[in-house]
Amino acid sequence: MEKVIEESKQGESLILEHKPENKKKLFIESYGCAMNFSDSEVVASILSEGGYNTTNILEEADLVLVNTCSIRDKAEQTVRKRLEKYNAVKRTVNPKMKVGVLGCMAERLKSQFLEEEKIVDLVVGPDAYKDLPNLLQEVEEGRDAINVILSKDETYGDISPVRLMSNGVTAFVSITRGCDNMCTFCVVPFTRGRERSREPQSIMAEIQNLSDGGYKEITLLGQNVDSYLWYGGGLKKDFEKASDMQKATAVDFEQLLSMVAEGFPKMRIRFSTSNPQDMHESILHVIAKYDNICNHIHLPVQSGSNRILKEMNRLHTREEYMALIDKINAIIPDCSITQDMIAGFPTETEEDHQATLDLMEYVKYSFGYMYAYSERPGTLAGRKMEDDVPEPTKLRRLQEIVDLQRKHSGFRTQEFVGKTMEVLIEKASKKSENDWSGRNSQSITVVFPKENYKIGDFVNVKINSCTSGTLIGEAVGYSDMN
Ligand code: SF4
Repeated sequence: MEKVIEESKQGESLILEHKPENKKKLFIESYGCAMNFSDSEVVASILSEGGYNTTNILEEADLVLVNTCSIRDKAEQTVRKRLEKYNAVKRTVNPKMKVGVLGCMAERLKSQFLEEEKIVDLVVGPDAYKDLPNLLQEVEEGRDAINVILSKDETYGDISPVRLMSNGVTAFVSITRGCDNMCTFCVVPFTRGRERSREPQSIMAEIQNLSDGGYKEITLLGQNVDSYLWYGGGLKKDFEKASDMQKATAVDFEQLLSMVAEGFPKMRIRFSTSNPQDMHESILHVIAKYDNICNHIHLPVQSGSNRILKEMNRLHTREEYMALIDKINAIIPDCSITQDMIAGFPTETEEDHQATLDLMEYVKYSFGYMYAYSERPGTLAGRKMEDDVPEPTKLRRLQEIVDLQRKHSGFRTQEFVGKTMEVLIEKASKKSENDWSGRNSQSITVVFPKENYKIGDFVNVKINSCTSGTLIGEAVGYSDMN
């Protein structure tokens, strides 16, 4: 499961460059994970070629697209509410407006969408965005349009995404798509298909473009980045069938990460998401070797109980996970580690829950993404397991997890007080116009007075105090990364 984009960004509409020759207007909203936000940039690029500029005014849009998430029922309900809103605008203000659903919900519900939500004109799954111009033609001609075919090799590697909602400093670069892991609670393998990797040269070219455009930080993105493997195209699971030549020249994540770090020494590099069973020690040495690779690993575990991990079909044990944590701490001593956790998975007992809290005490994560279990139709857990933990129990356990995480987050931020660290300035602080907000290598937010610094500067900041989520300091000069 990928971490969800911070709440404030959910559903934000987008503004981007305008081509004067484009006469039609696209309003696109994204929900869910970073991959969806990255995909919306691909969609905007494809439609920019098809005559659309983006707008952030819903009422004036010729085409409204919502990029959807199916990871939890709540995410789907949010999208349905947005569809009601579009419907109201269509009825009262803009009857010519067309509405399309993209992403995981489109893939999961397919034509059901066209039947249930009368307002929806087109339904497009995550591997079919290149077909959008054809589908729109169908819609123009008065037909509903749908393409939810999952692909063996679509990675959108040849498309240069249009940067949406951009601060001009940080950007996502997609490197893998799909997932082979089949965690029993997760819809991703069904909505995004099997895992395949993007050609390294197209990844390098995209980062070069970003670097030329003044970007300072990239996040290499995929459902399971550590399992990246390019051998000339095709699904990861078919690698064994590749030729000897393909195997000899294959590029894995360790090699890709080194290539990016060496090729762009002035670019900060992050990656997400990692799965414990695929994160090998060699990756940790690459992170330790290059100063421009950030010391932050997002390492979802979901539960601290071996029995529940097995029920979830997570491909590691609690002990293996703890051994990996020990290795991270030994090889990258100042690395922050963050988590995804699910409270109340089917059959979870108080003992299992306690094992989760114990694991959290062991790791003391810097921050995390925590949820009560939400049954997703079509998943193995949805089909085979009864959602038997009562809602109040789920919520109580979730609260205990959240409270403990808050304590640990405070412990982790306190460790930085008195230290000086490099921060990349990303935006003005939400709380004070006089302060900048950026992140340190560990991905902790740092705020400090603006002085004469500007967005995109790497600045050394001395930390004077903290809250459980934010470091507060003062700049002491530019860092060497500028
Ligand atoms: S690793 Fe598991 S939770 Fe993450 S995307 Fe793949 S199946 Fe879903």
